Amino acid sequence: MKLYDSIIKTVLDETKKAGVVDITDNAASAWPVNEQSELVMQRDSAFELGGGVNPSVNYTLVSTEHIVSEDGVFLVGPDLSGINSDVAFARIVIIETEEIGESEEAYNAIRDMEFARYHVFPKGYMVRVSSQSNQEQVRISKEAKAKGIDFSAIGKAYIEKYKAIAHVKNVRVIFITKAETVEILKPYAKTADDITKSLTHIYDGLATDCGHCDFKKVCDEVEGMREMHLGMAKKNK
Ligand code: SF4
Repeated sequence: MKLYDSIIKTVLDETKKAGVVDITDNAASAWPVNEQSELVMQRDSAFELGGGVNPSVNYTLVSTEHIVSEDGVFLVGPDLSGINSDVAFARIVIIETEEIGESEEAYNAIRDMEFARYHVFPKGYMVRVSSQSNQEQVRISKEAKAKGIDFSAIGKAYIEKYKAIAHVKNVRVIFITKAETVEILKPYAKTADDITKSLTHIYDGLATDCGHCDFKKVCDEVEGMREMHLGMAKKNK
């Protein structure tokens, strides 16, 4: 699947320009997680990622083009130990999958990846998301900060969740706390989401009626999307 590849290239180029650092090995293991979202009260909060007037965004990109050759956690900007007040925040996940084709399996894999995106609950790390605007705000507890919480361990918790999904090979989690880079990469969330939504409808059996299709704009913009749907329809005839 190459549909997200031009956004992946932009993310990799922009984070490189911004001085991205590989922090995979900073933590020996994943940060502990809860079964469900934990409430961190304001009075127990050390600071918020993407809080207040700070920009925030989260999105997931999928490829089969050997772009992510191993699991990794990357960071642009200060790590959690170096933050003492609200900052801008982005969490961008790039997932390398096996060629999942155009079957029900592909539909299930995309659905499971969307589920995983919002269902990791690290201890002392309260995530609030808006799936409408793709914003993500995180409240870090004073206790977690005192225990040395860092993005390497949080990234590993996300990687574990994604790796439990069938067909996922490698996962790269990129955290960004530098406002300028968050602002540059924020607009791509909408295109990434439009691709995912279109894909789920296509896998769901959307008729190939381009003249009356809600996803025409996506197909006009994203290379390979129209070919994929028309190719699938031809095969299924
Ligand atoms: S090819 Fe694109 S525009 Fe045409 S029906 Fe399929 S999703 Fe809609």
